[in-house]
This record gives sequence, C-alpha cells and structure tokens, in this order.
Amino acid sequence: MSNVYTLFEDCSRHGNSFILSPNGEPLYTYADLREESARYAHLLKQAGVAPGDRVMVQVQKSPQNLFLYFGCLRAGAIYLPLNTAYTEDELTYFIGNASPSVIVAEDTRTGFFESASDARVFSLSAEGTGTLVDQLPTQPVTPYTAEVDGDDPAVILYTSGTTGRPKGAMITHDNLASNGLTLLDAWQWQAGDVLLHALPIFHIHGLFVATHLAVLNASPMIFLSGFDPAKVIENLPRATVYMGVPTNYVRLLATGDLTPETCGNMRLFTAGSAPLLPQTFTAFHEATGHEIVERYGMTETGMNTSNPLDGERKPGTVGPPLPGVETQIVDENDAPVPSGETGYLKVRGKNVFKGYWQMPEKTAEEFDAEGYFRTGDMASCDDDGYVSIVGRGKDLIISGGLNVYPKELEGIIDRMPGVLESAVIGLPHPDFGEGVCAVIVPSGDVTLEEAELISELKIKVANFKVPKWVYFVDALPRNTMGKVQKNVLRDQFTPAGDN
Ligand code: AMP
Repeated sequence: MSNVYTLFEDCSRHGNSFILSPNGEPLYTYADLREESARYAHLLKQAGVAPGDRVMVQVQKSPQNLFLYFGCLRAGAIYLPLNTAYTEDELTYFIGNASPSVIVAEDTRTGFFESASDARVFSLSAEGTGTLVDQLPTQPVTPYTAEVDGDDPAVILYTSGTTGRPKGAMITHDNLASNGLTLLDAWQWQAGDVLLHALPIFHIHGLFVATHLAVLNASPMIFLSGFDPAKVIENLPRATVYMGVPTNYVRLLATGDLTPETCGNMRLFTAGSAPLLPQTFTAFHEATGHEIVERYGMTETGMNTSNPLDGERKPGTVGPPLPGVETQIVDENDAPVPSGETGYLKVRGKNVFKGYWQMPEKTAEEFDAEGYFRTGDMASCDDDGYVSIVGRGKDLIISGGLNVYPKELEGIIDRMPGVLESAVIGLPHPDFGEGVCAVIVPSGDVTLEEAELISELKIKVANFKVPKWVYFVDALPRNTMGKVQKNVLRDQFTPAGDN
C-alpha cells in the first residue's frame, strides 16, 4: 500500500452522501470529497508544498477542514492538526519543532502565525470561508495523488510524555490503512451504516477512528460541530454508529432523554480515549438496551484492543487485542507477568507509529529490541485475553477526554515567582472524569495568590490544562529515591466522597 488516500477513494467510490447536516440533510457527496480534495492537493502543490512537507492546521471543525486533510494526504504532505485551545506560547514550540511550509488557521490567529513562522499562512473559518477557500475555484479538479512510500509519515500528532515537551508522533500511510481496515472488520461496518460524528477532528479518535471508518465504508456521517447532548440525542434516530469519549456518555445519560426508542436504529456505540466506568456501561445499558464497545488506543499506536461485537463485552476492560496487534504485559525487568497481574503494556503491529519527529533517541527508548512499543500504560490481562487498563505509568491526566501532562505544567509553575516546586496530579472530577490539581511549595520570597497564579496560567496554557484545585504545602512527599510520591498526594487531596 502506498498513499492511503488511494484506499479511501477506492473504498468510498460507490458511496453517495458523505456529510449530512445536523438535521440529516445532504451537504456533500463522496464525489465532492474527490473533487474538493483534488483542488486542495493542487492548491498545496501550487503553494510550494512538496511531499514530506508539513501542513500545520489549527482550525474549528468543518467539512472544509476534512477536505483539506484528504487534500494533504493526496499531496503527500504531512498533515499536522493542532487543538484549537493551544496558546501562542505552545504554538511557538510546534512551529519551531515542525517547520511547517503552510499553516492554516482561523482569521484571528493568522497574524500571529505570520509573525512567528516563515510558512505561507492561509485562513479557514468554522463556516468554511477564508483565504484558503478563496483560492479553490481556480484550482483544477483533475485527479492528483502524489506517489509516496507506505512507510512515509502521513500525519504528525503532538503528544507528550514524561519529558513534558510535546513529541510529534509520525503516523504513516500504512499505519492508517492497517488500523482502518482492521476496525472496519472488527466492528462489522455494513451497508446502511450512518455515523453520528460529534468528536473533534484534531485527534485520532475523531479523525482516524470515526472519519476514516465512515469513508472506508462509504457511509454518510451526520457532522456536528461539537458535542452537544441535545443535538446528539436528536440525531440518534437517524444514525447507526456513535463514537464518544466516556464523558460524552455520562452527559448523555444525565439528560434523562436516552431511551431504547431514541436508539432504535443504532447498531454500535463505542467509547475510548479514557476509562469508561463500569457504572456508566451499566447505566447506559439500562437506559438504551445497548452495551458500549470499549476500545483502547493511543496517538502513537491507533487502536490496539476492542471489546468484541460478537461475544462478551466486559465492563472495566478494553477487550482483547485486535487482529494483527500483539500485546505484552511486563514487569520493570521486561519479563512477562502472569495473567491477572499488573505490569507495563507493550504493543507491536502495523498500527504502531514510525517514531517521534526529529527525536531518534526518544524513539529508540520507547521501543524494545523486539520492536514492541512501550505504551506507558499499566495493564492486566485476564484468562480470556481481555485487557484492563489499570493506570497510567506516565501520570497522564485525562480531563474531559483531553490529555494533560503534569510535567509540562510543573515546568511552567516552577518558573513562577514565589514557587519553590510543584507537583501536578489528576483528581476525580464529577464532570471531567479527572481534573487538574496543582500542589505547590512556596519559596517564601513572594506571597502567592491562587487567583494570580490561575490567571497567569490561563495566558500560558489551554484552558483544559488550568488547575481546578490549587493547594499550598510545606514540602512534597518523596520516596527514598527522591521521587515525588504522587499517589500520596492523590490520597491526601482527593475530595471527600470520591475515595
Ligand atoms: P491519546 O494519545 O490522546 O489517544 O491518549 C492515549 C491514552 O489514553 C492511552 O495511553 C491511555 O492511557 C488512555 N486511554 C485510551 N483509551 C482508554 C481506555 N479505553 N481506557 C483507559 N485508558 C484509555
């Protein structure tokens, strides 16, 4: 397999509607996808983008954003989507690291991007207007898909780890093809399926898992600009497949409007990106008659495991490894642990990424001698081969389905006047699953005010990373090796009633 776009086009050629409005009306067809993506590919080429060049995109969700994505694949460029919540400080790092040749952003951000980079900058609004779209009418619709190697990166997605510095995960054309086809089969996509799409498309869940599968199955998708429980429930009767993060399911249940009738046409609900609580699984089943299919994946690997379509779906587990994906659970010495015991989860397969952009040493560290990738997640596996994600070795916090990396925030907080050191942890939050909590040791030279600290952080980082709780302490608890004991802090500061 070479350019994954060819696979998407071959699979979707017989499809009719591609994007439906939130009222279920047809907006774009698969023929439109072919034409529009060709125009974008020509436009990028004309703008000087060569295969392998990075196209950085920070825009609101829109059909045009999707056409641009497929156009990038066709041009052989590396698509690099960014969360719209990122601040200028964060963007400056991404620009320096990725050296994009084209940047597409909202109108309000183009000035910043122009001053911060040498890239050609275009605008694209949530309504699908802007200087990018202005260029389209003069572009040909003649098919154009660049030759690439299947092992070339198609997308770079930034993700962080213990270093706190975001790393660009290079996901290849072959990775995308392999994971898409595996899921198409595992989730038994079929004629007549309609996807209800309410996820962001700057992340693997909304872009690779949701969009790719609709296209590979030539299915229409009802395209919502974001997650709105009322809109999702209104559209469920028109859909057969819905994919959400656990918080979405909690919010849908909270409306009290979910019934077996609203889900009468539905075939499949999937959840992932964070743990789905067994209580949510059970409450959803009681309300709708459907058992959510929980799956597990990550930016670097795509999807690794899934509960089965046929067979038992076990709440609290993420199911067995998908076909073609090998998993190993090992102890600190890399020795496999017995079934039922917790260890570090490693995965291997065609779904696993190529490495971190311009970080060969970091890449080498994360792969073992047999080519297994160290996920950083702690897991166990039962006698039936079902994997449970027990915790995150890397102390990642997932708040409302979005990742917050403690190390990154600690670095920023530690540099603030009046701070000696800090530890950032995740605490149970009724709405977001986890909320960010900062535990700070004051240096004593300046009086620290929580409100000031928070407003300073709001300038520096995206809102979802800003701590929901701040505590001041005299010292951080440490083990004999000098490591901060975050588990002790979590126990100490977990709000009463959440233990
Ligand atoms: P991301 O790279 O943003 O997709 O985040 C990946 C991380 O999300 C994984 O390493 C896991 O820690 C977590 N994750 C994803 N799916 C699940 C799940 N079903 N249960 C528990 N954690 C999950």
